[in-house]
Amino acid sequence: MKLKRLPSLLSLVAAILFSCQSKTTNESAMKPAENDVHSFAQPNDARVTHLHWRARVDFETKTIKAIASWTIETNPDTDIILLDTKGLNIEKITLDEDVPTTFRLAESDSLLGEALAVLIRPTTKKVNIHYQTSPEAEAIQWLSPQQTSGKQFPFLFTQSQAILARSWVPCQDSPGVRFTYNAEVIVPKDLLALMSASNPSSKNAEGVYHFEMKQPIPSYLLALSVGDFVFAPISDRSGVYAEPGVIDTAAWEFVDMEKMIAGAEVLYGAYPWERYDVLVLPPSFPFGGMENPRLTFATPTLLAGDRSLTSVIAHELAHSWSGNLVTNATWNDFWLNEGFTVYFETRIMEKLYGRDYAEMLASLNLHGLKEEVQSMLQDGHGADTRLKLNLKGRNPDEGVTEIAYIKGYYFLRSIEEQHGRGKFDAFVKDYFKQNAFQGMTTERFVPFIKDYYQKQFALSLDDAFFNKWIFSEGLPDDCPSPASVKFNEVDKVITNWKSTQELEYDVTKNWSTHEWLHFLKNLPAKLTLPQMASLDEAGGFTASGNAEIITVWGVLAIQHHYEKAYPKIETFLINTGRRKFLMPLYGEMIKTKEGKKRALSIYGKARPNYHYVATSSLDKLLEVKL
Ligand SMILES: [Zn+2]
Repeated sequence: MKLKRLPSLLSLVAAILFSCQSKTTNESAMKPAENDVHSFAQPNDARVTHLHWRARVDFETKTIKAIASWTIETNPDTDIILLDTKGLNIEKITLDEDVPTTFRLAESDSLLGEALAVLIRPTTKKVNIHYQTSPEAEAIQWLSPQQTSGKQFPFLFTQSQAILARSWVPCQDSPGVRFTYNAEVIVPKDLLALMSASNPSSKNAEGVYHFEMKQPIPSYLLALSVGDFVFAPISDRSGVYAEPGVIDTAAWEFVDMEKMIAGAEVLYGAYPWERYDVLVLPPSFPFGGMENPRLTFATPTLLAGDRSLTSVIAHELAHSWSGNLVTNATWNDFWLNEGFTVYFETRIMEKLYGRDYAEMLASLNLHGLKEEVQSMLQDGHGADTRLKLNLKGRNPDEGVTEIAYIKGYYFLRSIEEQHGRGKFDAFVKDYFKQNAFQGMTTERFVPFIKDYYQKQFALSLDDAFFNKWIFSEGLPDDCPSPASVKFNEVDKVITNWKSTQELEYDVTKNWSTHEWLHFLKNLPAKLTLPQMASLDEAGGFTASGNAEIITVWGVLAIQHHYEKAYPKIETFLINTGRRKFLMPLYGEMIKTKEGKKRALSIYGKARPNYHYVATSSLDKLLEVKL
């Protein structure tokens, strides 16, 4: 990239930050970079290229004391570098080999944190930031031994996406800025540290671990976890890390990981990150998985005991191309990460388990998408049903909806269906190759695919088509419709149940999780309590150990005041931190006065077990003021 100077802005920032009038910094000069409204960095003037991170993890004080040494590239006329921070206690900053310099932290913005401006020289190659994280750092969750599976050792994990990396590493926290990194992390002797980098496979006596990430990544893919881990290999390039009590179950559940990697490579090119491992976290992890490069972080709710929820692993693996390799340049372009990833995930699942299996997943996804679109339109959030978002002034987490994921998927699927799979596959493979290790915006994506189809296949893709899918609200009428033979059978069972009130055991006894989910989601809106009880007896929903089933059944139970399921819902909410399950259950509960009281009482017990990503959404939903 060519470095471009913004003299007026920079001199203004420098003048204000290094004068005594720090009160005015927030409104005037410290505006986020124009192209990324969620970062204060101005990478066109001075950008980071490599991080050398030396850190000591202290479970007693719940802090990380660290030195972040950034290698930088600057415009020769630039005299400051801007970084993002949030709640960091900065002790000192030096340049190159320990030359003292001056720095200023701007006033805090509740969403974006504090801009950090460091005075540099034209010759500066390195900026060394000595700092400590706050015990409240939003990315980090510190767990007590009681909150782990083994109950013996403490545990920590980070979740940097979307803009939380700045709460544990001062960085240019924009998905459009990439850097390589290496790290030395010191942890208590009984524990193992793992990062989104080359990882150790066992503990050492000193508790000192070294990491290297050779490929440039954006800051939201910085990740660290510390705990009592053991490793089980799946193939020579993949394996599972987990607490000792969980490792065998995890290795069994994810046994097809190598097949997934090989299948993905056949579809869209060689796996670009050398190793692919999965770390199973404690239940408080707020997501299904997080695609930290080389080391996916996964929720233990995937360990269903029947390998039925492993599409999440295919999803995180697919991010190795869509997201980690070709990255949304800003959070307004989030659909480019997630839409492509759901498309790729579905294709991996089709390759491994057949078309009908993939169509079941696509059909369940479409059901969820239609519900979400409808409720967003009803609630006056129609603008958020566009693929291209406008999240200025808002938490980018608000863009984590079915729109980016499933509307994104159906948009790509409709291109595939209109012009053929062969052409679309050629496009996707070349899209990843030609844009590897770069950011992508929606505005650049549209001409890219149009040019590609024109040059390769002499096909001109219609602008109206892109406008309808990307820049318009709702779901287009000609949205593709998945067809699953197995789901057609489920539909027949539902029809039959409506007239006989009997479930045909011979048919349902072999149903998978997906068929049961389709069944539950397509029952009549109104059920009687005896009907709920007999369904429960036939399907064993309240007793289920499968988090997807418990959630869908739990919502039905709350809607119909089926109190037999309430204790199970409460236990589940207290022991699970995955936001996807928490939101619908709490959301359904608060629809009645009595339910809201129950929700708040459960939340009071459960909140300490949840990560910030989950509590920030739930505080808002439950109107909890702290
Ligand atoms: Zn994803």
